Amino acid sequence: MVGSDGALDIAVVWHPDTDRHRDITGVWIGIPEPGDEEPDRTAAIARALRARNAPFVEAVGHDDSTLLAVHERAYVDFLDSVHAEWVADGYPERTGQPLVMPYLFPSRAFTLGELPRRPSALHAWIGRYATDTMTPIAAGTAVAARAAFNCALTAADLVVQGATSAYALTRPPGHHVGRDFFGGSCYLNNAAGVAEHLRRSGIERVAIIDIDAHHGNGTQAIFYDRADVWFGSVHIDPAAGWYPHFVGHADETGRGEGIGATMNVPLPETAGDAEWIEAVAVLCAHAARARPEAVVVSLGVDAALEDPNSPLRVTEAGFRVGGAAIAAIAAPTVFVQEGGYVVDRLGDFVTATLDGFRRGT
Ligand SMILES: [Zn+2]
Repeated sequence: MVGSDGALDIAVVWHPDTDRHRDITGVWIGIPEPGDEEPDRTAAIARALRARNAPFVEAVGHDDSTLLAVHERAYVDFLDSVHAEWVADGYPERTGQPLVMPYLFPSRAFTLGELPRRPSALHAWIGRYATDTMTPIAAGTAVAARAAFNCALTAADLVVQGATSAYALTRPPGHHVGRDFFGGSCYLNNAAGVAEHLRRSGIERVAIIDIDAHHGNGTQAIFYDRADVWFGSVHIDPAAGWYPHFVGHADETGRGEGIGATMNVPLPETAGDAEWIEAVAVLCAHAARARPEAVVVSLGVDAALEDPNSPLRVTEAGFRVGGAAIAAIAAPTVFVQEGGYVVDRLGDFVTATLDGFRRGT
């Protein structure tokens, strides 16, 4: 509950190693761009939550069982080792490129429709797992991504132990990562890890609500065939020309046993509070019908009016109402930080969402 002193009573799980992923630059349609997913994001959110006297909990390590349930071991091994290989092969000196970057993607041109065999040149292999040129791997990326994943699992543990909610201060974010692909500034899927961890802790049905401005294509892919993890996402319409472009349409509703357990609500570029709040409410109402025993929220706040990464126009007040809608599902809830890039407003948007949730419970 939100106390009369204004304290925000939700555990914030963090870890200092998430800062080790830093100084990222990417390339967009051939144009070098400075990265906007840097440690100042989590610092700003942490400052706002400390100002509200939220209790901070340092993440603890977990074995790889949940990690390897949502990601292929070969991909995890690649992430863990590829930067060291890049350095050992002399790329930083030979090319001037300190970051692991793809340049070639093994489409059907190279694979005869099968999985590609590993070529001898490391720089030709990165595109086996990378989906874009915006998500390079730095010296500290794997350590930071694993620290974020542990934040997410530690938050899940708190809920399994009886907390009504917990918030994982995760970066790099995760919802664009699938079993064997990464991109969109994401390296390990923290929200998927929470859902799987909850399932492995004996929780029968989990619902994921993804309110980041962009479709959670990685999370959708991981659970697309499953009935036990319901996935719903509200996001800028990929058909209007927005990342992740290829998926996130309303007609994607699951496959096999998962039919009916995926729901996408794409929004037009003009959508503001009214449309966004309505969409979140619709998602939450459908999620509630799946009778989840726990909820995972992919809490991106890049749908904000001020955020340059999406045209959506959600206000701080809108995020507050969105948080209350999530509370109406009436299940223990783990929030996982995803996107949001207006550093000086991130704390406002995250605390508004959590406030709305806590007032609604
Ligand atoms: Zn996003």
